[in-house]
Amino acid sequence: DPYLADPTRYDSMQYRRSGKSGLRLPGVSLGLWHNFGGANNADTMRETMRTAFDLGVTHYDLANNYGPPPGSAEENFGRIFAQDLKPYRDEIIVSTKAGYDMWPGPYGDFGSRKYLLASLDQSLARMGLDYVDVFYHHRPDPDTPIEESMMALDSAVRSGKALYAGISNYGPDATRAAIDILRDLGTPLLIHQFSYSMYERGPEEELIGALESEGVGSIVFSPLAQGLLTDRYLKGVPEGSRVTHSQFLNENQLSQTYLDRTRALNDIAAGRGQSLAQLAIQWVLRGDHITSALVGASSAEQLRNTVASLDFPALTDDEIAAIEPHAVH
Ligand code: NDP
Repeated sequence: DPYLADPTRYDSMQYRRSGKSGLRLPGVSLGLWHNFGGANNADTMRETMRTAFDLGVTHYDLANNYGPPPGSAEENFGRIFAQDLKPYRDEIIVSTKAGYDMWPGPYGDFGSRKYLLASLDQSLARMGLDYVDVFYHHRPDPDTPIEESMMALDSAVRSGKALYAGISNYGPDATRAAIDILRDLGTPLLIHQFSYSMYERGPEEELIGALESEGVGSIVFSPLAQGLLTDRYLKGVPEGSRVTHSQFLNENQLSQTYLDRTRALNDIAAGRGQSLAQLAIQWVLRGDHITSALVGASSAEQLRNTVASLDFPALTDDEIAAIEPHAVH
Protein backbone atom coordinates (compact mmCIF):
# COMPACT_ATOMS: atom_id res chain seq x y z
CA ASP A 1 0.00 0.00 0.00
CA PRO A 2 1.45 3.37 -1.01
CA TYR A 3 2.21 5.79 1.80
CA LEU A 4 0.90 9.32 1.92
CA ALA A 5 2.08 11.29 4.93
CA ASP A 6 -0.56 12.64 7.31
CA PRO A 7 -1.25 16.28 6.33
CA THR A 8 -1.63 17.17 10.04
CA ARG A 9 1.87 15.92 10.89
CA TYR A 10 3.24 19.34 11.82
CA ASP A 11 0.24 20.51 13.85
CA SER A 12 1.28 19.46 17.35
CA MET A 13 4.94 18.38 17.47
CA GLN A 14 7.32 20.82 19.19
CA TYR A 15 10.54 21.58 17.34
CA ARG A 16 13.48 22.73 19.46
CA ARG A 17 16.61 24.44 18.23
CA SER A 18 19.81 22.40 18.49
CA GLY A 19 21.99 24.78 20.50
CA LYS A 20 22.67 27.96 18.56
CA SER A 21 22.44 26.22 15.17
CA GLY A 22 19.80 26.79 12.52
CA LEU A 23 18.47 23.25 12.90
CA ARG A 24 15.38 22.39 14.91
CA LEU A 25 14.66 18.83 16.00
CA PRO A 26 11.43 17.25 17.20
CA GLY A 27 11.00 17.01 20.99
CA VAL A 28 10.86 13.24 20.50
CA SER A 29 13.19 11.53 17.98
CA LEU A 30 13.13 7.85 16.98
CA GLY A 31 16.20 5.65 17.39
CA LEU A 32 16.75 2.34 15.58
CA TRP A 33 19.25 0.72 17.94
CA HIS A 34 16.81 -2.05 18.91
CA ASN A 35 13.69 -3.34 17.13
CA PHE A 36 15.05 -2.79 13.56
CA GLY A 37 17.48 -5.69 13.21
CA GLY A 38 17.55 -8.75 10.99
CA ALA A 39 15.14 -10.76 13.14
CA ASN A 40 12.54 -8.03 13.68
CA ASN A 41 9.14 -7.99 12.01
CA ALA A 42 9.22 -6.05 8.73
CA ASP A 43 5.64 -4.80 9.00
CA THR A 44 6.15 -3.53 12.55
CA MET A 45 9.27 -1.64 11.52
CA ARG A 46 7.51 -0.10 8.57
CA GLU A 47 4.48 0.90 10.62
CA THR A 48 6.69 2.42 13.32
CA MET A 49 8.67 4.49 10.80
CA ARG A 50 5.49 5.71 9.08
CA THR A 51 3.82 6.50 12.38
CA ALA A 52 6.85 8.51 13.47
CA PHE A 53 6.73 10.73 10.40
CA ASP A 54 2.95 11.11 10.67
CA LEU A 55 3.40 12.36 14.24
CA GLY A 56 5.99 14.98 13.27
CA VAL A 57 8.93 12.84 14.44
CA THR A 58 11.17 14.06 11.63
CA HIS A 59 14.38 12.61 13.07
CA TYR A 60 15.58 9.00 12.69
CA ASP A 61 18.78 8.08 14.52
CA LEU A 62 21.01 5.20 13.40
CA ALA A 63 24.57 3.92 13.70
CA ASN A 64 26.73 1.63 11.59
CA ASN A 65 26.49 -1.19 14.14
CA TYR A 66 22.75 -1.16 14.95
CA GLY A 67 21.03 -4.48 14.42
CA PRO A 68 21.78 -7.23 15.19
CA PRO A 69 23.51 -8.15 12.97
CA PRO A 70 25.53 -4.92 12.65
CA GLY A 71 24.40 -2.91 9.64
CA SER A 72 20.94 -4.47 9.45
CA ALA A 73 19.14 -1.49 11.01
CA GLU A 74 20.59 0.78 8.31
CA GLU A 75 19.55 -1.73 5.64
CA ASN A 76 16.03 -2.00 7.02
CA PHE A 77 15.80 1.76 7.33
CA GLY A 78 17.03 2.16 3.74
CA ARG A 79 14.47 -0.28 2.36
CA ILE A 80 11.54 1.34 4.19
CA PHE A 81 12.80 4.82 3.40
CA ALA A 82 12.87 3.95 -0.33
CA GLN A 83 9.37 2.45 -0.14
CA ASP A 84 7.67 5.18 1.85
CA LEU A 85 9.68 8.24 2.79
CA LYS A 86 11.91 9.09 -0.17
CA PRO A 87 9.58 11.83 -1.48
CA TYR A 88 9.95 13.49 1.93
CA ARG A 89 13.76 13.43 2.11
CA ASP A 90 13.97 17.20 2.64
CA GLU A 91 11.58 16.97 5.61
CA ILE A 92 13.67 14.32 7.38
CA ILE A 93 16.82 14.33 9.52
CA VAL A 94 18.80 11.07 9.36
CA SER A 95 21.80 10.57 11.60
CA THR A 96 24.36 7.82 11.76
CA LYS A 97 27.54 7.15 13.70
CA ALA A 98 30.81 5.28 13.75
CA GLY A 99 32.97 4.52 16.77
CA TYR A 100 32.24 0.96 17.94
CA ASP A 101 33.48 -2.33 16.53
CA MET A 102 32.19 -2.78 13.00
CA TRP A 103 34.57 -4.80 10.84
CA PRO A 104 37.70 -6.92 11.40
CA GLY A 105 41.23 -5.57 11.45
CA PRO A 106 42.67 -2.30 12.76
CA TYR A 107 40.44 0.03 10.66
CA GLY A 108 36.97 -1.07 11.75
CA ASP A 109 36.69 0.45 15.24
CA PHE A 110 37.32 3.55 17.42
CA GLY A 111 38.24 6.91 15.88
CA SER A 112 40.79 7.02 13.08
CA ARG A 113 40.11 9.06 9.97
CA LYS A 114 40.45 5.82 8.01
CA TYR A 115 37.65 4.13 9.97
CA LEU A 116 35.26 7.05 10.25
CA LEU A 117 35.21 8.03 6.58
CA ALA A 118 35.08 4.44 5.28
CA SER A 119 32.24 3.70 7.69
CA LEU A 120 30.25 6.73 6.54
CA ASP A 121 30.49 5.51 2.93
CA GLN A 122 29.29 2.07 4.02
CA SER A 123 26.37 3.58 5.96
CA LEU A 124 25.27 5.67 2.98
CA ALA A 125 25.37 2.57 0.76
CA ARG A 126 23.32 0.50 3.26
CA MET A 127 20.71 3.25 3.61
CA GLY A 128 20.65 4.18 -0.07
CA LEU A 129 21.22 7.85 0.78
CA ASP A 130 23.47 10.49 -0.85
CA TYR A 131 24.09 12.15 2.49
CA VAL A 132 23.16 11.96 6.16
CA ASP A 133 22.08 15.02 8.07
CA VAL A 134 24.25 14.32 11.11
CA PHE A 135 27.39 12.18 11.30
CA TYR A 136 28.59 11.35 14.81
CA HIS A 137 31.74 10.04 16.34
CA HIS A 138 30.01 7.42 18.50
CA ARG A 139 32.47 7.34 21.42
CA PRO A 140 35.78 8.94 22.35
CA ASP A 141 38.92 7.03 21.33
CA PRO A 142 41.70 7.31 23.92
CA ASP A 143 44.37 6.29 21.40
CA THR A 144 43.57 8.53 18.44
CA PRO A 145 44.29 12.27 18.68
CA ILE A 146 40.94 14.02 19.04
CA GLU A 147 42.10 16.38 16.26
CA GLU A 148 42.17 13.46 13.82
CA SER A 149 38.64 12.30 14.66
CA MET A 150 37.30 15.86 14.48
CA MET A 151 39.05 16.48 11.15
CA ALA A 152 37.32 13.36 9.82
CA LEU A 153 33.92 14.82 10.86
CA ASP A 154 34.88 18.13 9.23
CA SER A 155 35.85 16.26 6.03
CA ALA A 156 32.55 14.38 6.06
CA VAL A 157 30.70 17.69 6.14
CA ARG A 158 32.90 19.38 3.52
CA SER A 159 32.48 16.42 1.17
CA GLY A 160 28.70 16.82 1.35
CA LYS A 161 28.22 13.33 2.77
CA ALA A 162 26.99 14.86 6.06
CA LEU A 163 25.39 18.23 6.75
CA TYR A 164 26.35 18.50 10.43
CA ALA A 165 28.83 16.96 12.88
CA GLY A 166 27.99 15.32 16.21
CA ILE A 167 29.73 13.52 19.06
CA SER A 168 28.39 10.92 21.46
CA ASN A 169 29.41 9.59 24.86
CA TYR A 170 32.23 12.16 25.25
CA GLY A 171 32.88 13.37 28.79
CA PRO A 172 32.90 17.09 29.65
CA ASP A 173 36.63 17.72 29.02
CA ALA A 174 36.77 15.86 25.71
CA THR A 175 33.55 17.62 24.73
CA ARG A 176 35.05 21.06 25.33
CA ALA A 177 38.12 20.05 23.31
CA ALA A 178 35.96 18.76 20.44
CA ILE A 179 33.94 21.97 20.42
CA ASP A 180 37.08 24.12 20.18
CA ILE A 181 38.70 22.02 17.45
CA LEU A 182 35.57 21.85 15.31
CA ARG A 183 35.00 25.57 15.71
CA ASP A 184 38.55 26.25 14.49
CA LEU A 185 37.99 23.92 11.54
CA GLY A 186 34.87 25.87 10.57
CA THR A 187 32.39 23.04 11.19
CA PRO A 188 30.78 23.88 14.53
CA LEU A 189 29.60 20.95 16.64
CA LEU A 190 25.83 20.64 16.15
CA ILE A 191 24.94 18.27 18.94
CA HIS A 192 26.07 15.87 21.64
CA GLN A 193 24.25 12.56 22.18
CA PHE A 194 24.40 11.12 25.68
CA SER A 195 22.40 9.02 28.10
CA TYR A 196 20.09 10.98 30.41
CA SER A 197 16.98 10.05 32.34
CA MET A 198 15.52 10.03 35.85
CA TYR A 199 17.74 6.98 36.33
CA GLU A 200 20.89 8.48 34.79
CA ARG A 201 21.62 11.89 36.29
CA GLY A 202 25.37 12.12 35.66
CA PRO A 203 25.15 14.68 32.81
CA GLU A 204 23.58 17.21 35.21
CA GLU A 205 26.91 17.62 37.01
CA GLU A 206 28.84 19.27 34.20
CA LEU A 207 28.03 18.15 30.67
CA ILE A 208 24.60 19.72 30.16
CA GLY A 209 25.77 23.10 31.44
CA ALA A 210 28.92 23.00 29.29
CA LEU A 211 26.89 22.30 26.14
CA GLU A 212 24.44 25.04 26.98
CA SER A 213 27.13 27.64 27.49
CA GLU A 214 28.83 26.64 24.22
CA GLY A 215 25.58 26.78 22.25
CA VAL A 216 25.69 23.08 21.35
CA GLY A 217 22.52 20.97 21.23
CA SER A 218 21.78 17.93 23.43
CA ILE A 219 19.93 14.82 22.32
CA VAL A 220 19.47 12.30 25.11
CA PHE A 221 19.35 8.58 24.51
CA SER A 222 17.47 6.00 26.56
CA PRO A 223 15.28 8.61 28.31
CA LEU A 224 13.01 5.67 29.23
CA ALA A 225 16.05 3.78 30.60
CA GLN A 226 15.49 1.14 27.90
CA GLY A 227 11.98 0.52 29.19
CA LEU A 228 12.80 0.55 32.92
CA LEU A 229 11.17 3.99 33.17
CA THR A 230 7.85 2.71 31.87
CA ASP A 231 5.20 0.39 33.27
CA ARG A 232 6.70 -2.48 31.19
CA TYR A 233 8.14 -4.47 34.12
CA LEU A 234 5.79 -3.54 36.96
CA LYS A 235 3.80 -6.80 36.67
CA GLY A 236 6.52 -9.24 35.71
CA VAL A 237 8.55 -9.62 32.54
CA PRO A 238 6.40 -9.52 29.38
CA GLU A 239 7.17 -11.86 26.50
CA GLY A 240 9.30 -10.17 23.86
CA SER A 241 10.31 -7.27 26.14
CA ARG A 242 13.90 -6.01 25.91
CA VAL A 243 14.95 -7.80 29.10
CA THR A 244 14.21 -11.10 27.35
CA HIS A 245 16.37 -10.55 24.27
CA SER A 246 18.94 -7.78 24.71
CA GLN A 247 22.45 -8.14 26.07
CA PHE A 248 22.14 -4.51 27.25
CA LEU A 249 19.27 -5.03 29.71
CA ASN A 250 18.97 -7.80 32.18
CA GLU A 251 16.55 -9.28 34.61
CA ASN A 252 18.65 -8.66 37.71
CA GLN A 253 18.15 -4.93 37.17
CA LEU A 254 14.53 -5.52 38.24
CA SER A 255 15.36 -5.46 41.98
CA GLN A 256 12.94 -4.66 44.79
CA THR A 257 14.51 -1.19 45.05
CA TYR A 258 13.89 -0.72 41.35
CA LEU A 259 10.27 -1.84 41.65
CA ASP A 260 9.57 0.41 44.67
CA ARG A 261 11.07 3.43 42.99
CA THR A 262 9.36 2.82 39.68
CA ARG A 263 5.97 2.20 41.27
CA ALA A 264 6.27 5.52 43.11
CA LEU A 265 7.02 7.28 39.83
CA ASN A 266 4.22 5.40 38.10
CA ASP A 267 1.83 6.71 40.78
CA ILE A 268 2.96 10.28 40.15
CA ALA A 269 2.33 9.76 36.43
CA ALA A 270 -1.10 8.25 37.14
CA GLY A 271 -1.90 11.32 39.24
CA ARG A 272 -1.31 13.40 36.13
CA GLY A 273 -3.47 11.05 34.05
CA GLN A 274 -0.51 9.87 32.00
CA SER A 275 1.81 6.90 31.51
CA LEU A 276 5.18 6.69 33.23
CA ALA A 277 6.81 6.82 29.78
CA GLN A 278 5.10 10.16 29.20
CA LEU A 279 6.23 11.51 32.58
CA ALA A 280 9.80 10.36 31.90
CA ILE A 281 9.91 12.22 28.58
CA GLN A 282 8.45 15.40 30.04
CA TRP A 283 11.01 15.19 32.82
CA VAL A 284 14.05 15.11 30.51
CA LEU A 285 12.61 17.95 28.42
CA ARG A 286 11.76 20.17 31.45
CA GLY A 287 13.46 23.54 31.09
CA ASP A 288 15.23 24.32 27.83
CA HIS A 289 18.46 22.41 28.36
CA ILE A 290 17.72 19.37 26.21
CA THR A 291 16.94 19.55 22.49
CA SER A 292 15.34 16.15 21.93
CA ALA A 293 14.47 12.92 23.75
CA LEU A 294 15.71 10.03 21.59
CA VAL A 295 13.48 7.03 22.21
CA GLY A 296 13.13 3.50 20.98
CA ALA A 297 9.85 1.72 20.28
CA SER A 298 9.00 -1.92 19.65
CA SER A 299 5.60 -0.94 18.24
CA ALA A 300 3.90 2.04 16.65
CA GLU A 301 1.54 2.10 19.62
CA GLN A 302 4.44 2.66 22.05
CA LEU A 303 5.70 5.53 19.94
CA ARG A 304 2.23 7.12 19.86
CA ASN A 305 2.07 6.89 23.63
CA THR A 306 5.53 8.39 24.04
CA VAL A 307 4.95 11.26 21.61
CA ALA A 308 1.67 12.12 23.33
CA SER A 309 3.79 13.19 26.33
CA LEU A 310 4.14 16.54 24.55
CA ASP A 311 0.38 17.17 24.84
CA PHE A 312 0.39 17.31 28.64
CA PRO A 313 0.85 20.47 30.73
CA ALA A 314 4.45 21.10 31.80
CA LEU A 315 5.60 19.63 35.11
CA THR A 316 5.20 22.02 38.02
CA ASP A 317 7.99 22.73 40.49
CA ASP A 318 6.04 20.74 43.10
CA GLU A 319 5.81 17.73 40.78
CA ILE A 320 9.52 17.92 39.97
CA ALA A 321 10.24 18.02 43.70
CA ALA A 322 7.99 14.99 44.29
CA ILE A 323 9.89 13.04 41.63
CA GLU A 324 13.29 13.93 43.06
CA PRO A 325 13.53 11.31 45.87
CA HIS A 326 12.76 8.52 43.39
CA ALA A 327 15.20 9.62 40.70
CA VAL A 328 18.70 8.17 41.06
CA HIS A 329 21.66 10.51 41.55
P1 NDP B 1 14.35 4.10 25.46
O1 NDP B 1 14.85 4.45 26.81
O2 NDP B 1 13.32 4.97 24.82
O3 NDP B 1 13.83 2.58 25.49
C1 NDP B 1 13.02 2.06 24.47
C2 NDP B 1 12.26 0.83 24.98
O4 NDP B 1 11.34 1.23 26.00
C3 NDP B 1 11.40 0.20 23.90
O5 NDP B 1 12.12 -0.74 23.13
C4 NDP B 1 10.30 -0.45 24.70
O6 NDP B 1 10.73 -1.66 25.28
C5 NDP B 1 10.10 0.54 25.83
N1 NDP B 1 9.07 1.56 25.52
C6 NDP B 1 9.15 2.55 24.61
N2 NDP B 1 8.06 3.32 24.63
C7 NDP B 1 7.26 2.80 25.58
C8 NDP B 1 5.99 3.18 26.07
N3 NDP B 1 5.34 4.25 25.60
N4 NDP B 1 5.44 2.43 27.06
C9 NDP B 1 6.10 1.35 27.56
N5 NDP B 1 7.32 0.95 27.14
C10 NDP B 1 7.88 1.68 26.16
O7 NDP B 1 15.52 4.17 24.44
P2 NDP B 1 16.57 3.14 23.78
O8 NDP B 1 17.41 2.51 24.81
O9 NDP B 1 15.82 2.28 22.84
O10 NDP B 1 17.47 4.16 22.97
C11 NDP B 1 16.85 5.05 22.04
C12 NDP B 1 17.80 5.40 20.95
O11 NDP B 1 18.92 6.13 21.48
C13 NDP B 1 18.46 4.22 20.25
O12 NDP B 1 17.60 3.62 19.29
C14 NDP B 1 19.64 4.88 19.62
O13 NDP B 1 19.24 5.59 18.47
C15 NDP B 1 20.07 5.86 20.71
N6 NDP B 1 21.12 5.29 21.56
C16 NDP B 1 22.38 5.81 21.40
C17 NDP B 1 23.44 5.34 22.13
C18 NDP B 1 24.79 5.96 21.92
O14 NDP B 1 25.79 5.40 22.39
N7 NDP B 1 24.88 7.08 21.24
C19 NDP B 1 23.28 4.24 23.11
C20 NDP B 1 21.90 3.82 23.27
C21 NDP B 1 20.88 4.33 22.51
P3 NDP B 1 10.34 -3.09 24.68
O15 NDP B 1 11.30 -3.30 23.55
O16 NDP B 1 10.56 -4.01 25.83
O17 NDP B 1 8.93 -3.01 24.20
